[in-house]
Amino acid sequence: MKRVLLKLSGEALAGEKHTGFDEATVIGVAKQVKVLVDDGIQVGIVIGGGNFWRGRTSENIDRTKADQIGMLATVMNCIYVSEIFRSVGMETEVFTPFECAGFAKLFTKDRALKRLNRGCVTFFAGGTGHPYFSTDTTTTLMAIEIEADVILLAKAVDGVYDSDPKQNPGAVKYDEISISDVVDQRLAVMDLTASIMCMENKMPMMVFGLGEKDSIINTVKGNFTGTKITV
Ligand code: UDP
Repeated sequence: MKRVLLKLSGEALAGEKHTGFDEATVIGVAKQVKVLVDDGIQVGIVIGGGNFWRGRTSENIDRTKADQIGMLATVMNCIYVSEIFRSVGMETEVFTPFECAGFAKLFTKDRALKRLNRGCVTFFAGGTGHPYFSTDTTTTLMAIEIEADVILLAKAVDGVYDSDPKQNPGAVKYDEISISDVVDQRLAVMDLTASIMCMENKMPMMVFGLGEKDSIINTVKGNFTGTKITV
């Protein structure tokens, strides 16, 4: 792996608090990513927004506006995580698909590749810039656009199961599964739009539990215990 796209959920940043930021958790992620960067691996990052807001949080306001708030939540998350990454010694840049003036840079592929090629951790904030999409779709889109080798999908659960392990104690974890099986069986890895984009563009994924010690490092360095999604 030379270039990876890491997806973190918004909830992952909140730790036990379930909202806002849990700094110790984020510092832990930063230290793991630094090991990869120091090893010459290029890292792009997409972060969800669920620790602040989701489009479906309000049933009373217009969906487009609600989704815009969700996209802005991902900008806050990326600015925060980017700063924590800097505090542990990494170079970072935050890109958005819409103008954020002095807060972030407008995304272009060329700008992003320039940063990645010099070892700068590159954050893709603000989702796709469009309502009715998700940060899963953003992850797939950005991974394809920056020509990442793989998507690293850090989750609350440690891989992909044939049914929800929280509901069904007998659920079986896959070591490996094809993206077409994920789509056919509607397995809850990413939303369907994002999964289909991965399938059509042959973008593999590694799904693992963020809560497990050194799981990001282990996934990249071959000590992988999650689920590999093949194309
Ligand atoms: N969002 C959006 N377009 C995008 C990405 C995100 O509208 O391209 C909004 C949407 O409202 C979403 C929220 O941002 O609920 C947070 O994104 P995330 O993917 O974490 O949301 P989830 O999938 O958990 O709803």
